[in-house]
Amino acid sequence: MSGTVDLHIHSNRSCDGDFAPAELVRMGKGCRLRAMAIADHDTVAAYPEALDAGRAEGVEVIPNIEFTTVFGRDDREFHLQVPFLDWAGRSVAELAGRVTAARFREARERVDALRALGFDIAWAEVEAASDGAAPLGVKIAQVLLDKTAGQSAPYPPALASYLSPERRDMGPYFFYRDYFAEGKPAFVPKRHVPLVEVLAAMPALGGVAVLSHPGAYFQNTTAEDLAELKERGLAGLEVYSPYHTAEQVAIYKELARTFDLVATAGSDFHGRIKPNVAFGSLREGDYRMVEELRRRGRG
Ligand SMILES: [Zn+2]
Ligand SMILES: [Zn+2]
Repeated sequence: MSGTVDLHIHSNRSCDGDFAPAELVRMGKGCRLRAMAIADHDTVAAYPEALDAGRAEGVEVIPNIEFTTVFGRDDREFHLQVPFLDWAGRSVAELAGRVTAARFREARERVDALRALGFDIAWAEVEAASDGAAPLGVKIAQVLLDKTAGQSAPYPPALASYLSPERRDMGPYFFYRDYFAEGKPAFVPKRHVPLVEVLAAMPALGGVAVLSHPGAYFQNTTAEDLAELKERGLAGLEVYSPYHTAEQVAIYKELARTFDLVATAGSDFHGRIKPNVAFGSLREGDYRMVEELRRRGRG
């Protein structure tokens, strides 16, 4: 059966999305999506709201999540989706809880590192601005810059350049690059869960394992990676993604065929943080992808 689908959308229950789950489902209906999946970073907090909205609007909502993991000898960051996961189950809660705890630990370490460098920022201020989610580095930078901007000039010399009128909008990103990036003074290493561990847990998590945007610059998935991941239970590959050039789409489409992986489509829509991705702009998503994933999930 045909129909347009988008299997990779972020809500405001991720630390970096803008729209509430029910709002996204209404937008999906407006774009005539037949099925859609909200795949928030390391959380299923969009459920059951998204499912309820799907029933009300007549859009099939497929529960999903996007885990940030590491894989390979060089510990590259890989994102893994689990469409059809047992979102209310204990195993999902345990794994998501573990990952969230690690994100909070990293965030606190970042704030500590800034304080050690002499910046005037407290964890409580960051926490208050984060709505219960683990704050990303950019968020921490934003809290620091907003606080400083609210004080009277002159600003501390180390922060003045990020608050200049022409750099203010991008200030948190510049600050991130100068302080939190690898090799910079407030760098904190991430402790991601190993990808193979999530694949091994798949029977308990329910659902099927789909690798997000294999061609993303940080992931750079190779044929060798896919051979091993297929062996470990990977079922799908997000071939159609705004991360990919037309050439990468062709390459990963071929690799999906080689390794018998379901080729899926996801816009990775977030809202403001990824302004180049408009809602409903991805046209390659087809309902047959959903049927094939469902079939593999049962198998
Ligand atoms: Zn991702
Ligand atoms: Zn994503």
